[in-house]
Amino acid sequence: MDTVILWLKRDLRVDDHPALVLAAARGAVLPVFIIEPDYWARPEHSGRQWDFIRECLLDLRAELASHGLPLVIRQGRAVDALALLVAETGARAIISHEETGGLWTYARDRHVAAWARGAGVVWHELPQSGVIRRLQSRNGWAGLRDAFVARPQVTLQGARAPVRIPPSDPLPAHMGHDPCPGRQRGGRTDGLRLLQSFLDGRGLGYQRGMSSPLTGADMCSRLSPHLAFGTLSGREAAQTGAGPHSIRTGDAKAFSSRLAWRDHFMQKQEDAPDIEARALHPFYDDLRPRDPDATRLAAWAAGETGWPFVDACMRSLIATGWLNFRMRSMLMAVASYHLWLDWRASGAILAARFTDYEPGIHWSQCQMQSGTTGINAIRVYNPIKQGLDQDPGGVFTRRWLPELAHVPDMWLQRPWDWQGDWGGAGALAYPRPLVDAVQAARTAKAAVWAVRGQPGFREAAFDVVRRHASRKDSARRFVRDPVVTPKPKPEPKQGAFDFG
Ligand SMILES: Cc1cc2nc3c(=O)[nH]c(=O)nc-3n(C[C@H](O)[C@H](O)[C@H](O)COP(=O)(O)OP(=O)(O)OC[C@H]3O[C@@H](n4cnc5c(N)ncnc54)[C@H](O)[C@@H]3O)c2cc1C
Repeated sequence: MDTVILWLKRDLRVDDHPALVLAAARGAVLPVFIIEPDYWARPEHSGRQWDFIRECLLDLRAELASHGLPLVIRQGRAVDALALLVAETGARAIISHEETGGLWTYARDRHVAAWARGAGVVWHELPQSGVIRRLQSRNGWAGLRDAFVARPQVTLQGARAPVRIPPSDPLPAHMGHDPCPGRQRGGRTDGLRLLQSFLDGRGLGYQRGMSSPLTGADMCSRLSPHLAFGTLSGREAAQTGAGPHSIRTGDAKAFSSRLAWRDHFMQKQEDAPDIEARALHPFYDDLRPRDPDATRLAAWAAGETGWPFVDACMRSLIATGWLNFRMRSMLMAVASYHLWLDWRASGAILAARFTDYEPGIHWSQCQMQSGTTGINAIRVYNPIKQGLDQDPGGVFTRRWLPELAHVPDMWLQRPWDWQGDWGGAGALAYPRPLVDAVQAARTAKAAVWAVRGQPGFREAAFDVVRRHASRKDSARRFVRDPVVTPKPKPEPKQGAFDFG
């Protein structure tokens, strides 16, 4: 029986695994995960992501063993590792899922494809989500995506391992120094537990609770790293969510929409692999200096901007690897608007801190929150108001900024105004804001709007809509008039989201 190499990437599971099922039908299955040093040297990849993946691999190894299959680990360049495995096993076929990754994985896959062609090895790539490769037009995409998600999940009926299993490299204990004491645990067991507890009641009030970092940590599903590294398939999450559950219908619908958004954003990356490197609207590519102000970037990255709620969010992210959507948006918007930092630099820092780093969602969102898509509303958050709205009692802010623990509630989000008999800002071991928030926001908005008035902007925005926008809601408006419709909105409504 011929050996088929199953190249595992962001699909660390056995259930609903089209590539595994196909491999099992074609021959003896050799599941392989390749640890690529150049991938791990990238700034957007981090030790916490590796720690999560490592736990997933340990779980997967046990799961594969229960089906009589091994898990081979190899370290090195993918093309070299695969070539060696082909030589060792005589395999003539490699099967994997279609990866929608960043520019680096895109280039690596092209390299592997070229090698496979030259070596006479067939490489099949199968979809594992609603993302469609070589999509001709965004028209009708939602229907194709929904049809994929509605199809029955695939089940492994039986599999055979090759007679001789090639040796495995060890799993590194760590990948660099990246302490993250509150990180979520990897592995399918935890992914399933989270999905079930969310639907069994943790997600009651999801729609209302998701906006605050206080309630969001419990009420959101927390499935993102599991979906990112495939311990659960998106289809599995969507179908389970559509089944019997104990949360409100509105909450279940909101969850289902977000799973669709996931595919929607990843489709953008699939269609434009350089989304991490180039502004979607070309007029915005050099909006901010490419060489960002190092002092501001370092202060923002360390959670030392002088805006307590912003800093609390950043420090919480550093310690846990997760943040709710609204606060991710705020961190990005503060970096891009108030601090006028190029989104590529701040985006890479956030990516490395997210255990759930998913290039397609991440870079689309970084651009949306920085005003560089040309088709979305410009969203500038007031960092002080966000703290008052989302953390009214200051519990979250004080937890992550113990140096402000004794500051009274009414001064907590503006401690620099806390003076005289009350203590005085000078007594605090906490910085003053890097810039004046109101003035900086005004200047930034003016700069973004000035670009929208340039000749040719509208035509280029139409092109972005044509290639990337959802054919629903806001996109329909932008198709009519991409320049006039997106008026600046200083504060988005709670839970509001631009489905662009
Ligand atoms: C600047 C920025 C960067 C982001 N980077 C990432 C990233 O690298 N990886 C990532 O998974 N999400 C990213 N998001 C989207 C979102 O914040 C997270 O998916 C969500 O907070 C994860 O928590 P959860 O699993 O509890 O989500 P839930 O609210 O429970 O949602 C369920 C799932 O739906 C998907 N989803 C939720 N919100 C969105 C959204 N707005 N867009 C697309 N898909 C969504 C995720 O897969 C999520 O796990 C980013 C958002 C912003 C503003």
